[in-house]
Order: sequence, then structure tokens, then C-alpha cells
Amino acid sequence: MAKALSAALLILFTIGPGFVYSQTPDKYYLLKAGQFYDSEKNVFVQDQQVLIKNNLVLEVGTQLTVPPDTEVLDLGDATIAPGLIDAHSHVLLEQQSDEPLAVDAMLMSSEARVLRAAKFSRSYLDAGFTTIRDLGNSGQYLDLEVRRAINRGYFPGPRMLVSGPIIGSMDGQVDGIPLADFDRISRQEYSMVSGVEEAKKAVREHIARGVDVIKILAIGNRLVLSLDEMKAIVETAHAERLTVTAHCDRDWAAQNAIEAGVDGIEHAYGFKPSTLEKMAAKGIYVVPTYGSTETIRAYYEVQNQPYTEQDLKDNAAGWNKWTRELKAADVTIVAGSDAYIDLKRPRGELAKQTIWGYADAGLSPEDVLQTATINAAAALGMKDQIGVIKPGAFADIVVFGGDLKTDIKTSLYQVKMVIKDGEIVFRK
Ligand SMILES: [Zn+2]
Repeated sequence: MAKALSAALLILFTIGPGFVYSQTPDKYYLLKAGQFYDSEKNVFVQDQQVLIKNNLVLEVGTQLTVPPDTEVLDLGDATIAPGLIDAHSHVLLEQQSDEPLAVDAMLMSSEARVLRAAKFSRSYLDAGFTTIRDLGNSGQYLDLEVRRAINRGYFPGPRMLVSGPIIGSMDGQVDGIPLADFDRISRQEYSMVSGVEEAKKAVREHIARGVDVIKILAIGNRLVLSLDEMKAIVETAHAERLTVTAHCDRDWAAQNAIEAGVDGIEHAYGFKPSTLEKMAAKGIYVVPTYGSTETIRAYYEVQNQPYTEQDLKDNAAGWNKWTRELKAADVTIVAGSDAYIDLKRPRGELAKQTIWGYADAGLSPEDVLQTATINAAAALGMKDQIGVIKPGAFADIVVFGGDLKTDIKTSLYQVKMVIKDGEIVFRK
């Protein structure tokens, strides 16, 4: 049997260039909708059409001439926008709201985490996210396994960029578990280094395995990476054309990260104006993983606690203030949810609550969309490829019902269609 098969394949591949044996015809889609969000100009435009050829955008404009076998998708008064990007996901982690972070890593096998990641990946697509950047808490490179599974079509999911284990000092972020488990879990979930040489080695190990970005802990539970360690990490990563982003929720811890030359800061809780000014001057982006009134609502509901609408507003007020401060300081805001707590809602929906939060804080609908499209694409090193709908870009598109410009909160949750890499992956 094997012999017969090889012989058949041999014949197939030696027939020559004139024989077309597996070429599929080009697939064209024409998308028509009342509104189009142009992420480069940061404006909504009326009545634009988008012509897709296979996995790329071919043309954008009005009254396009299309090939005869084009499939026309007339989407009425909906809004066409670039597929959303969540620059801070954790698809291999789920924390129960009443348990320490490390419990998931202690109880779940790697296999179970990967299978669960398939569910989260699907939910991201359904919510309109066509790209995620997964930033650690993924065991020893399970994120690379999920990325490969998606790329090979084993299960559906967004484009995925991954960091591998977060590089930190000797304590990681594991806390609240028996000391006997501390070392095992920390080493499973983090890449812990001490000294410049270990820091460089960790980056090289990550690059050798194929990560897309390096994530460091500018501040762990108790320890911080030294300035020299951070500098060594940044220099080693940059030499291999990888960027570095730093988990950093405290202003004081940001100083070393900024001086070391990181490309981005994750979280940034209430940084001082002088810190934000420095970051804006150096072009360091921020991923404000703050959440919104809807995130707070989900918390209350999962814990069966009564609440008022005012409670939600009061709880989100700090986040909203920080978002406005980032905007006022002209720091590039990149959308990222850090969604990993089990709030009994689809992961993609939880991720979108963060994006909606930027609107709640006062950003215009256009600015909100930029955080999750063109800003995020630049942070991910994929400018002109994703986060934009223009000729040559990947056909990663989300279509929203309702009016995204005048009622972003409602419209953001009315996903009508999602196209990833030229393929319709969600339709309602
Ligand atoms: Zn995170």
C-alpha cells in the first residue's frame, strides 16, 4: 500500500509544470456596507467597498469593478472595520475569582490547558478579534503549541503572537500557595533569572524556540529585575529584532524599564505625569488593561453580590482617570484586556469590555478603534499587515451592526461577520 502510494505521488510530482493538479481558483469577496472605519486616517467613511482576493485586501473604494465570480456580501448599514487586536491575552490561563493565580497551573495539565485555549480562541474570533498577543502564564511554551495548532487549522482561532514564559527575577508572580509548590510552579510558569548572563540566556532560549515578543516582569511579587538585567534583555532581544514589553503596574518600577529601553509597558496603573511624559518622548506604548463598568458588573454577578449602576461607575472611575491621563500625555494606547479571570462570560466578550472601557473613559469611538487596530498592529510589529484595511493588508475584518460612530457601546457587541485571512470565520 505504501509503495503504491509513493509511486502515485512520484507520478504526480514528475508530470511537469504544465499539469495543474491542485491549484484552487482565486476567491473574491466584495464587502459593501454603509460605514467603513479607516484606521490610518482615524475617520468613519460612508459607502466604501472592500474587495478581497484570497487572504489579502485587493482594493478599497466606491463602485469597484470586480471579477465575474466575486461573492458579494451586502451588509446594509453595518460598519466594516479592521479585525480587532487584543495585545494582552492569556488563553492558557483561567483564574477563579476566589482563588490565587497559581491554582490553575497547579491543577490543570498542559493538555487540558491547550484544549481550553481552543475554546478561548474560538470565542475571540466570535467577538471580532482576529489577532491576539498572548503574554505568558502559559506553562513552558504551551502558547507556541496553541499558535501552531491554529496556524495548522487544528482548531479555529485568531492570529497569535506569543511571548513564551515571562522573564522575571527569582520570584515570578506566584503567591498564596504552599511554599513546597512555589519553586515547581514558578519554574513552570516563568523564566526566572539572576544576573546579566542568565538574563541574556533566557532571551536567547525564547528566541530559539520561536517567540514573537519578550515579556519581562519589571516588578514581580517581591523582587525586581535590576537595571543591568533589563538592559541586557532589551539589547539581546533588539539585536534579534524582537521587541520587549514589561509588566509594570507601579510608577516607581517603570523607571528602570524605561531607562532600559523597553518598547512597551503593560498595565501602568496611575503613573505620574513625568513618567508618562518620558514614555511619550521615547515612543513607549502602554497597554492599559483596566477593564470597565461591564467588567465590574461581571465581577458582582459572578460573586452574587447586589450592586447599583453607581457602584459600577465608582469602581471604574480610577481606570477612566488613568486612561484620560495617558491620552492627555500623548502616550500611544494599545488595547489589551489581560482577561483571565473566570467571570462566566465568553473570553472574547470579556476582552471587549476593556476596549469599551476606553470609550467609557472618554475616548472618541475613532480613538478607541485605533487602540485595537493600528496602534496594536504597530506594537506587534505588524504595521500595514493587520489593523488596517488597505491593499496588501491581510483580509482581517470585523463587521459591526448598529452605528459604531454614535453608539459604540451597543455596536461593539453586535458582531455580524468576522473574516480572518480572507476566510469567513463568524457570521450572524
Ligand atoms: Zn497579564
